[in-house]
Amino acid sequence: MKYEIVMGLEVHVELSTKTKIFCNCTTAFGGLPNSHTCPVCLGMPGSLPVFNQEVADRAIKAGLALNCEIVRDNRFDRKNYFYPDLPKDYQISQLYSPICREGYLDLTLHDHSKKRITIREIHMEEDAGKLIHDHAGTLIDYNRCGVPLIEIVTNPDFRNPEEVTLFLENLQEILVYLDVSDCKMQEGSMRADVNLSIRPAGQQEFGTRTEMKNINSLKAIHRAILFESERQIKLLGEGGTVRQETRRWDDDKGESYAMRSKENAQDYRYFPDPDLLPIHIDDKWLEEIKYSMVELPEAKRSRYQEQFGLTEQATETLTAAKETALLFEETAQISGLAKETANTIIGDILRLMRETGTLPENMKISARKLAEIIQLVSRGEINRNVGKLLVEELFKKDIEPEQYIKENGLLITDNSSLLEPVILEVLKAYPQSIRDYRSGKEKAFDFLVGQCMRQLKGSASPKAIHDLLKEKLQGIEADREQEPAIQTEHETYEREKAEL
Ligand code: ADP
Ligand code: MG
Ligand code: ZN
Repeated sequence: MKYEIVMGLEVHVELSTKTKIFCNCTTAFGGLPNSHTCPVCLGMPGSLPVFNQEVADRAIKAGLALNCEIVRDNRFDRKNYFYPDLPKDYQISQLYSPICREGYLDLTLHDHSKKRITIREIHMEEDAGKLIHDHAGTLIDYNRCGVPLIEIVTNPDFRNPEEVTLFLENLQEILVYLDVSDCKMQEGSMRADVNLSIRPAGQQEFGTRTEMKNINSLKAIHRAILFESERQIKLLGEGGTVRQETRRWDDDKGESYAMRSKENAQDYRYFPDPDLLPIHIDDKWLEEIKYSMVELPEAKRSRYQEQFGLTEQATETLTAAKETALLFEETAQISGLAKETANTIIGDILRLMRETGTLPENMKISARKLAEIIQLVSRGEINRNVGKLLVEELFKKDIEPEQYIKENGLLITDNSSLLEPVILEVLKAYPQSIRDYRSGKEKAFDFLVGQCMRQLKGSASPKAIHDLLKEKLQGIEADREQEPAIQTEHETYEREKAEL
């Protein structure tokens, strides 16, 4: 029998606020264990939470980017359960009125077809601490306790692992652009739970699902989906039934195993948190957030194609990181040369970033200086290789291009009075090449151009050298026809050299 995979995601994203959701402790990753804590996030009796409004700002941004309805009247609920990483024995979350509802994200699949993933809700909640299992026992670090999270819950719209990966990549991109989260899966600031069931192809009704929790890399998610779908298909094929349960994915072993049977909302005895006031999001607040939204990567890509005539591939490369997209926009604006700017960033800057292991967020390049170099090359005032050199020096040492060019004599001089002595010297040094050229060997000409370029260290344009060299060679030719003085002179020189 042929089966279809059905999946829904619950994605936890740690928000990029400086402080925690209900206290002033820092949200910085790492730090000495339990040093980022206070009575509130340690759940001490008598301490009271105070809501950090920036958490709502970011949740609203995420909701708007995902086409959600923003719920104006928000409350927090207590989700009660015991676990050592949760000192209050309840997690403050939102069950009854999540801040965002009913959204969607449109994916463009690899075959260019579109797929809409609908979003059921986004709610705000606090993160728990971390258990560290050590040979001596289990240690607890509460630094992460109270770090703000949003949980994005999709409907069961995914049908294959490609859609899941693409959704998470798009989500990451959007949330990073909006500064909602850094979405670093390796640091746990983005974690996905995969709910998965299978059903015979053509059947309307969904099968029983399992949930694989907190998988922390895209690769692991892909592997977990393949493993779990095959496990369920085999189980049904053998006449068994899938149990609704929470499973743990072990990426080292490449398999998942049952953790506990699935709990439901009643198990958590949810009730409104009496310590926190309701939050009302008024029009002014919402407008402010709308106003602060930056252009999203998808919109940038179509704009770059339309406005600047860039290829799809180029727009994708430029927008892969917010920092490179902004550098492109600013440099293109100043230089007025969008295509050249795109080529320089893709060809040179990204290569330098790879070679030096520089992350986009650590790249510091002045758009003004980069625009200056691009303009100089485009006006033919410096040659392409010098342009590349300058970009590299700009990347590594933040040089001032004009000054660097002056100090190193890199400006192209097409002034023939400067080129002439060099060309004559080269001609004098390579009489054999002149003869070769005369007998019709084009290579000899290229060789002479190359020698001149070397002497001039790239400070003259190949075209200027080319033209002047042709002129000089023709001159020698003409001289020879009238009075073969120069020729003889060269021949004498050759003879003398041979005799030595
Ligand atoms: P709970 O509230 O118990 O976590 P939900 O119904 O809210 O369960 O669904 C949680 C997640 O599971 C959602 O992402 C949803 O899309 C997904 N899901 C629900 N039913 C199925 C199913 N039959 N197969 C796959 N995924 C499902
Ligand atoms: Mg759930
Ligand atoms: Zn605290």
